[in-house]
Amino acid sequence: MGQNDRAMAEPETVVVVVEDDPNIADLVDLYLRQAGYRVYQAADGEAALRTVRDRRPSLVVLDIGLPGGMDGLEVCRRVRADSDLPVILLTARDSELDRVLGLELGADDYVTKPFSPRELVARVKAVLRRTEAPTRAAKVLAVGDTEIDLGRREVRHAGTVVALAAREFDLIAYLAEHRGLALSRRQLLDGVWGHDWVGDERTVDVHVRQLRRKLGDDLPLATVWGVGYRLG
Ligand code: CA
Repeated sequence: MGQNDRAMAEPETVVVVVEDDPNIADLVDLYLRQAGYRVYQAADGEAALRTVRDRRPSLVVLDIGLPGGMDGLEVCRRVRADSDLPVILLTARDSELDRVLGLELGADDYVTKPFSPRELVARVKAVLRRTEAPTRAAKVLAVGDTEIDLGRREVRHAGTVVALAAREFDLIAYLAEHRGLALSRRQLLDGVWGHDWVGDERTVDVHVRQLRRKLGDDLPLATVWGVGYRLG
């Protein structure tokens, strides 16, 4: 895969970094952005909860020692109370680490300060690899009145299940996962039919026609002149 393909496969993996020391926060931010993540920072517990709620990250890097009434452990507890959002804790000392392990908060990993930012990025990648597959399987993408249920491999239009062929489902799911992007017929063939698929690009047109017929005119699936197609 080329770099563009990889970037498209993960259009926006958001990581929230909760850390009150601006030097550490900026360093972690920098390394994560270089690794292709979109990063939002929060410097205390209240801001952390707000940012997690607003930005819907795929992972949180969470310092334990935070100013104000809510430390990182409490933030972790609250985040975990109603989600499986992966958390990597930053702990300042071994004594803190003992507390973390004793509390069994369900953090996915922890890193003891001082740490190498590269090591942290490697941990972030590892945790996301471990946790992303089931999340993805349970995901439902909504485009207008159409819901694409990736786990059940089912498409519902205005609440009713629409019978699609396997490739038609793969195509609408791929378009929905890259919503808002103009994708060439070649990109669609590579993404849906596979890189080794040998065939005519008009195959894509035929399947798009089927999707439009089955999902109705209000499906925002646009033909992008000279390129290919764009959903949403
Ligand atoms: Ca701190």
